[in-house]
Amino acid sequence: MTVPKRCKQERARPFKNTVAARTHKRQQWNYTRVIPVSSSRDLISARFSHDTPVWTCKKACKTAVMHVTALAGGVGGARFLRGLLDHLATRPGFTDDPDSQVTIIGNTGDDITLFGLRVCPDLDTILYTLGGGIHEGQGWGRADESFAVQGELAALGAQPQWFGLGDKDFATHIARSQWLGQGRTLSDVTAALATRWGLPEQRVRLLPMTDQPVETHVVLDDADGTRAVHFQEWWVRMGAAVPATRFVVAGMDRATPAPGVLDALRTADIVLLPPSNPVVSIGVILSVPGIRDALRGTLAPVVGVSPIVSGRPVRGHADACLAALGMPAEAMSVASLYADFMRGWLVDPADAPAESEIPAGLVVRSRPLLMTDRAAAAAIAGAAVELALELRRT
Ligand code: GDP
Ligand code: CA
Repeated sequence: MTVPKRCKQERARPFKNTVAARTHKRQQWNYTRVIPVSSSRDLISARFSHDTPVWTCKKACKTAVMHVTALAGGVGGARFLRGLLDHLATRPGFTDDPDSQVTIIGNTGDDITLFGLRVCPDLDTILYTLGGGIHEGQGWGRADESFAVQGELAALGAQPQWFGLGDKDFATHIARSQWLGQGRTLSDVTAALATRWGLPEQRVRLLPMTDQPVETHVVLDDADGTRAVHFQEWWVRMGAAVPATRFVVAGMDRATPAPGVLDALRTADIVLLPPSNPVVSIGVILSVPGIRDALRGTLAPVVGVSPIVSGRPVRGHADACLAALGMPAEAMSVASLYADFMRGWLVDPADAPAESEIPAGLVVRSRPLLMTDRAAAAAIAGAAVELALELRRT
């Protein structure tokens, strides 16, 4: 079956749119900084320019879905993406065409070097979830894990102990670190790990947002003074209990999109934003220079799924992240962070906005958004795909 990827009018049309850190007094460990802190800059904020209009195709484009591109963090992103694959497996347009592909652009702002090993929590959560090796209850880490290495590290007095690393998980970080040490790029290493987890057979390509090492740091300001800690220390050790004043992404000023990222956005048939953390997952991906512009210029409709249900994050501390941006934990507040490129937004019925609260140019649909199991996630992903296809035709 030959399926036209784009109507001629679309093809012919050119793109229009184109911490300082102080040591925490109570800090018990020193993670290995791979990026000089002087290269940090503020990149995540609630403000962005609205000066370039988003161009949309008014032509009827009745193409089947072949190229789906999604931005994703960890657990919320991975569960949604597994649902998306389940859904796409039921769509003739996807399964019949050997060119069909889902490209995932993964967040690497959570990355951290521990015990000399490079750990990429969000990429690994996606690999393990799509590859069938995830610990289902936790949503991260490996199923049937043992903790002999971490136990020995504790006996040696090696820090930190608050970041859980199982033995099987350690193998991923050892292989990744060895390959990176041999000069391979993070894209290349991630592709090798994806092969181990059978992603190519599922027509999935997992791309890190950038090959340059970047790390999200959290600026805290309390009785202990102003200081910055690695995102993982704030999220995991502190449970995000100390209010963040802002986030900075060390290394972002030298980051460029990884190979294939911009093309995947520009040539996608539809672009999806899973219900990932809008600040430290999606927000960090959007701060890679060029990615936001590619989303504003793509001809593909961008449809997102709210991670906020009933005015709260379903899990994690997205509310504390939004508070640092001065925003309430509300589905429509999250939508406002994507206002310059997003055309469709799924919210839970509990968060359905009044007509007057819906910005011009945004289509909002309400449906239950709890991914209680794989089938529920597939149904949510299916609704996002349907909305995107509908928007392609308008
Ligand atoms: P992380 O990197 O592991 O924190 O994962 P993500 O950034 O991909 O996703 C975290 C977000 O997923 C949180 O803000 C949650 O509110 C959201 N989330 C988790 N489970 C669900 C769910 O079942 N439904 C919806 N709508 N959002 C969810
Ligand atoms: Ca994450």
